Amino acid sequence: MREPHIFADNPLNRGEVERRDEEWINVQAVDARSKFLPFRNLNVLLTDDVPPELGWVRTQQIQPLPPDAEWIFLGLLDDVAHFAVDLSRSESDADRVQDATGWHFEDCRTAGESMSGPNTGMLSQARAQLDWNLRHGFCSICGHATNKGRGGQVRQCPGCNASHFPRTDPVIITVVVDVARDRCLLGQSRGRLARLRTYSALAGFMDQGECIEEAVAREVMEEAGIRVKNVRYHSSQPWPFPSSLMIGCIAEADTTDINMDDVEMTDVKWFDRAEVLKALDGESDQLTVPGRIAIAHHLIKSWANGEEF
Ligand SMILES: [Zn+2]
Repeated sequence: MREPHIFADNPLNRGEVERRDEEWINVQAVDARSKFLPFRNLNVLLTDDVPPELGWVRTQQIQPLPPDAEWIFLGLLDDVAHFAVDLSRSESDADRVQDATGWHFEDCRTAGESMSGPNTGMLSQARAQLDWNLRHGFCSICGHATNKGRGGQVRQCPGCNASHFPRTDPVIITVVVDVARDRCLLGQSRGRLARLRTYSALAGFMDQGECIEEAVAREVMEEAGIRVKNVRYHSSQPWPFPSSLMIGCIAEADTTDINMDDVEMTDVKWFDRAEVLKALDGESDQLTVPGRIAIAHHLIKSWANGEEF
């Protein structure tokens, strides 16, 4: 079985039944056994171990919470309630926690690169859900202030009675393969990839009313002018920046002449298998591919290693 991607493999039981009981959540929030994961400006507290661990702190180290601190219930592990808490609005409390533990706040992407699977799975849930709650303090229908429900899995509007649920945005990401010539299509989009001179699988947000196969065909046509067939699902990865789900696919090229969209892309090219294998080992001077934090790395590697799926 394939190893889970970074930001997946979350060991928490999300407590779907327990979280419907507000009273139970409030009791857990002050229970001495509970654990809290502090965030500051969406950066997470990490221990100073090598590699680091998530910086869970005990109830007595964090309670009483500042009145404007947002906190959410993540779930249960070994019958212990786990919470995430945002201390951004209270610098003194963030400093107090940091000083008391001797640990440090870290950008979540950097944290994901340096930690093991289950840690990154819990991190992705915590970051995405905390961010969503922080950004949905007001109702998108009537503008009234909303209240957190079910420990942060819903926000209720007392103005119009609407329930707002956290959203996940699906993104397709595809390695296109030219079977006849044993090569794959990779692109460099403007922005981060261009700055890093990195080539990756083609990707884009799914449209509404679109299936995965259609989204793959549309994105590849838009970015590279290439028609695809036989779209196959490979694997998926939560990507909590802020709330994406990467849906990894491999597709066969039906045409091979590139007609690049130069608004979105700086380059799109075919790369042969030998070059891709060298790039995956970091030994190519022609090609740099994303690191193992990204699903793109694993899609490219699957094709290059001739894996069946
Ligand atoms: Zn409302």
